[in-house]
Amino acid sequence: ASTGSMIVVSNRLPFVLQRNKEGNLVRKASAGGLVTAVAPVVINGNGLWVGWPGIHLDDPNEPIPESDPSDITPTAGLKSEKVIAVRIDPIIFDSYYNGCCNATFWPLFHSMPDRATFKGEHWKSYVKANKEFADCTLKALKSLPRHAGEFPLIWVHDYHLMLAANWIRQAADDLGLQCKLGFFLHIPFPPWDIFRLFPWSDEILQGMLGCDMVGFHIADYCLNFVDCCQRNLGCRVDRKNLLVEQGGRTVRVRPLPIGIPFERFVELAEKAPRVFGTTQKIVLGVDRLDYTKGLVHRLRAFEKLLENHPEHIGKVSLLQIAVPSRTDVKDWSAELTGRFTTPNWSPIRYIYGCVSQDELAAFYRDSAVGLVTPLRDGMNLVAKEFVACQINIPPGVLIVSPFAGAGETMHEALISNPYEIDDASEVIHRALTMPEDERILRMNYLRRREKLNDVNYWTKSFLAAMGSLVTQEDHDD
Ligand code: UDP
Repeated sequence: ASTGSMIVVSNRLPFVLQRNKEGNLVRKASAGGLVTAVAPVVINGNGLWVGWPGIHLDDPNEPIPESDPSDITPTAGLKSEKVIAVRIDPIIFDSYYNGCCNATFWPLFHSMPDRATFKGEHWKSYVKANKEFADCTLKALKSLPRHAGEFPLIWVHDYHLMLAANWIRQAADDLGLQCKLGFFLHIPFPPWDIFRLFPWSDEILQGMLGCDMVGFHIADYCLNFVDCCQRNLGCRVDRKNLLVEQGGRTVRVRPLPIGIPFERFVELAEKAPRVFGTTQKIVLGVDRLDYTKGLVHRLRAFEKLLENHPEHIGKVSLLQIAVPSRTDVKDWSAELTGRFTTPNWSPIRYIYGCVSQDELAAFYRDSAVGLVTPLRDGMNLVAKEFVACQINIPPGVLIVSPFAGAGETMHEALISNPYEIDDASEVIHRALTMPEDERILRMNYLRRREKLNDVNYWTKSFLAAMGSLVTQEDHDD
């Protein structure tokens, strides 16, 4: 048998619905790399996308609008008949999304349990929301045309939907509907001694093990998951081949590091206007303001750099782009700015707000150092976008934390432990003083890898790991 169409299930649809002045629903396109890579598979393969539309819809019969004719984003071809908008009671949704997903799973899975809250009410909402997604997916599965010898592939995304897969499998089995189920987690999977703090951790594992294949960014997360299945549930596991036995089935676990739309960033970098003068070097940070991103540690390391290597004063600035999220960084930045600023130079330039990817490409291209130092991060796409945009010769230098997925895979970057402030400042110094030929060599390797392992390659790898017929091109590292 081979796979036919695909159903993608994610918390959010690949566009957001909004009401215009007339009160009509309109689509607002999303342009993320993931959407760009996955949407064509759904559009061209007769697939469906199940997700929450970004707005609470009161009337269950209100139709999903088609995309605007002027829309040229990859989701424009996603006709409304291919979209299933999940409706969830607003109070349940808030408790599921802001409670269980963002106040519990986000910190816990980033190994920051002290930041996590554990509330039975949030968990109940998470269960209800996952049931809703599972029901909608089943409806989608029933509606798909069946061709002899083919069965649909269901791809469930991320920590919002860790329970859904098992219910989908059970219901599909009961109805005699064949399908293949895959899951991908976009954040880290924590070690067992962290994971077990979650009071309902068994249920999470059982939910994920409803799949045929479970994907994570890197091998460490895979091993953590396999370990948790063994220690929580007593499953038989094969660590070498990353297999877990559950209920008479064998679940494959696979490291599938996500990539970026590499060529798109190269093109943006090629046409972006200059953004900095030539006299000062820029050390660049680009992050959502989230406690996992290590912004306070980063500012401290930069302060140490100026203390220990005063030759950089007046010549090097840290440009931090901070996308509003949760915040505790502003005070420190103000203190550091006050301490070192002169009339012609400030140690920190701070952009508080979201910058378009066109603009980001220019910042990435013209910075001397890309400083990607999260305390913990599933992958970190900024590190990859930075190298894609480094088209100037000689190029700059990437610094990345070993606690990001990117730190595991981008071997030629300088590795910097953000917790070790003194060393982190020395690594910045090393980057700023690195000889040209070494910069060229390192950046060439980094760019080559990201170009080969771009986001389209990731999608193909996922499908290949699911055992579908989509061929895997020869893209080994
Ligand atoms: N980004 C953006 N504008 C900004 C800052 C970030 O569009 O001002 C994008 C950036 O290009 C990247 C994403 O946000 O694609 C951040 O992804 P990452 O994996 O680094 O971190 P996350 O926010 O998902 O934890």
